[in-house]
Amino acid sequence: MVDISRGSALGISGASELFQLLRDGAPRTRASLAQTTGLARSTIAARVDELMRLGLVTPVADAASTGGRPPSQFALNPAARIVLAADLGASHATIAVTDLAGTVLASRSEPMDIARGPETVLGWMVEAGLALVAELGRDRKELVAIGIGVPGPVEHSTGRPVNPPIMPGWDRFDVPGWVQQHLEVPVLVDNDVNIMALGERALAWPNVEHLVFVKVATGIGSGVISGGLLQRGAQGIAGDIGHVRVARGADVPCHCGNRGCLEALASGPAIARALREQGVDVQSGSDVVELVKRGDIDAIQAVRQAGRDIGEVLTACVSLVNPSVIAIGGSMARAGEHLIAGVREVVYTRSMPLATEHLAIVQSAAAANAAVLGASMLAIHHVLSPEGIDALAAR
Ligand SMILES: [Zn+2]
Repeated sequence: MVDISRGSALGISGASELFQLLRDGAPRTRASLAQTTGLARSTIAARVDELMRLGLVTPVADAASTGGRPPSQFALNPAARIVLAADLGASHATIAVTDLAGTVLASRSEPMDIARGPETVLGWMVEAGLALVAELGRDRKELVAIGIGVPGPVEHSTGRPVNPPIMPGWDRFDVPGWVQQHLEVPVLVDNDVNIMALGERALAWPNVEHLVFVKVATGIGSGVISGGLLQRGAQGIAGDIGHVRVARGADVPCHCGNRGCLEALASGPAIARALREQGVDVQSGSDVVELVKRGDIDAIQAVRQAGRDIGEVLTACVSLVNPSVIAIGGSMARAGEHLIAGVREVVYTRSMPLATEHLAIVQSAAAANAAVLGASMLAIHHVLSPEGIDALAAR
């Protein structure tokens, strides 16, 4: 239950707290809000007026009449403001403008090497984002936040990447501080797998409270949503499963300096390398996916084994967080059921029966859009929080 009785120095908190009940987008009447909250109808009316003044709620078609005057209904207005959502990958960058429901209004993707450094990449992001806002005919003042996903660990409290292996020049770089020199809005930064977990949940599993998203691509990582909340851990690297040791990998060296890491066995490049050692002509993870799609038996077996290796580590995750959904995404998930089958084979065999009774292990539904959608969610969650609404009112 949302505490809607608290006041604030700005005097708007009552409205921002009331707004939390309206975030789901369902239409409500003043009377139903008064009933839910126990507040006087005059108080509800004043707070609703405040939210209407901000444009955050809007009247909707009236409910069917039950005799007499039908009650006026209103709901969240997703068009009230816009946010920017950026997915900065190792070799590609995407920037999108979305409304407050996460609907993409415009987007742009370009090849972009993250190793060109923060000023170059973020400079492109800001410029392209503002160009999209202008193309949509929206006022820059309507832009209220930006969410950014990067391919490396991020200290969430400061938005700074920490020792990101494939992001030279980004270590401890103050991403929010730099972006705010150009955009005076809250800047939320997280690693790509965490935002993909948020995007996957928003698109395919909005009512699921316990979800693990696993990205299998050049690297392997996971984003953990538990109790409805993304779990970042103490330093922001919760879910970083790529360097957990798997039994089969005893002698396989990993770029992290250890041996036998999951990433050294089951990532796209690792599967390609194993196939090359068998004399198959493949250079990359995407070559492997193409071979699988053509029905190549060696490639199918290698992908299935990678699935088993991933399943070995996920079995421990299942015991720790007891998810009801494991969604497998990233470029190697395009190999389809063969990868998923390997994961299922091990997780369903090695987990306690109760943990897997209702556990779905599935391919990501959001696929390539998961990251942008998740970056948008990161920004929207911030904007629509009680503190975010207070800040909007004070602008
Ligand atoms: Zn490693």
